[in-house]
Amino acid sequence: MHLEKRVLITGGAGFIGSFLCERLLEAGATVLCVDNFFTGTRMNVSHLIGHPRFELMRHDVCFPLYVEVDEIYNMACPASPVHYQFDPVQTTKTSVHGAINMLGLAKRVKAKILQASTSEVYGDPAIHPQTEDYWGNVNPIGPRSCYDEGKRCAETLFFDYHRQHALRIKVARIFNTYGPRMHPNDGRVVSNFIVQALKGEDITLYGDGSQTRSFCYVDDLVRGLISLMETPDSVTGPINIGNPNEFTIRQLAENVIDLTGAKSKLVFRPLPQDDPRQRQPDITKARDILKWEPSVELRDGLSKTIAYFDALLADRNLKV
Ligand code: NAD
Ligand code: UDP
Repeated sequence: MHLEKRVLITGGAGFIGSFLCERLLEAGATVLCVDNFFTGTRMNVSHLIGHPRFELMRHDVCFPLYVEVDEIYNMACPASPVHYQFDPVQTTKTSVHGAINMLGLAKRVKAKILQASTSEVYGDPAIHPQTEDYWGNVNPIGPRSCYDEGKRCAETLFFDYHRQHALRIKVARIFNTYGPRMHPNDGRVVSNFIVQALKGEDITLYGDGSQTRSFCYVDDLVRGLISLMETPDSVTGPINIGNPNEFTIRQLAENVIDLTGAKSKLVFRPLPQDDPRQRQPDITKARDILKWEPSVELRDGLSKTIAYFDALLADRNLKV
């Protein structure tokens, strides 16, 4: 007989997944972390190994999985453009086959299932800020499409399983999230800028740096995901989870230089194809339904993230 809630976290050894594992263990759950270690590492969860309610399993979600659980957080998928474009066919398979396999598992064991969807379903948005009823402006055949369309198809599958099989689903549209345990080479803007600043290298602004993003600190995000999972069955989402404070990429670079005290110069590189011009979540639904809103200011979150990368680089003797 089991007393604790049994939670499966796919992609649990990744950046966001590892914090979810931690928070759910703290809340008393039994956690099964499943990962194929494509972008995640054992190091992200090494401090949890040996915990009596924690289990780590190497598995690729493109293949079926048979385990007994009560809740599933489907986080498995590379999230940085560099990583998801490395093997785009595998990225689509992870989103689509992964969703089918995890939905099939949820159906069989009657588990509740949450999908880590993304603001990328809005593409390069024609409305601003983005509300959940906006259908998006997505290129179906470009270099970002494996990720964007894979995630859109996963949402379709979630809603069809809900309508067709009465599955209990929760779809979170996550906006740019940052924090400790991001992969130092994943090419995402926050990790890139911090690593460049700490190494005394130039900071690479793509385009003129006037494009915007809204950055959410990982602790806030994870709190939002857990609140969504705990909502009544009538709440399916999709629901935006992110920080509505919007910054230009140039402002982000200036903050990183200021907080690290780096002497780095700003240098300009070509803007990648289909790079969204602006992005800001409308979080009215999250505020109303989840009673959630982010609380960590960008500079505070950046300071914690800088401290993490500083220790990581010192460990690897990579700092100047
Ligand atoms: P991440 O790359 O650190 O984590 C993804 C994890 O999934 C990794 O541990 C990776 O090894 C694992 N994985 C990849 N393919 C797999 C497969 N086929 N089978 C099993 N495991 C697999 O990225 P993250 O930032 O922690 O993102 C987690 C989730 O949140 C992703 O689904 C991502 O799309 C979503 N998301 C993240 C952001 C963000 O800003 N970080 C924004 C929107 C959505
Ligand atoms: N970016 C940048 N320099 C970098 C990495 C990224 O100017 O070294 C820009 C990128 O072009 C995009 C923004 O920062 O406009 C966010 O990029 P990221 O890859 O973090 O996420 P996404 O584009 O998926 O939001």
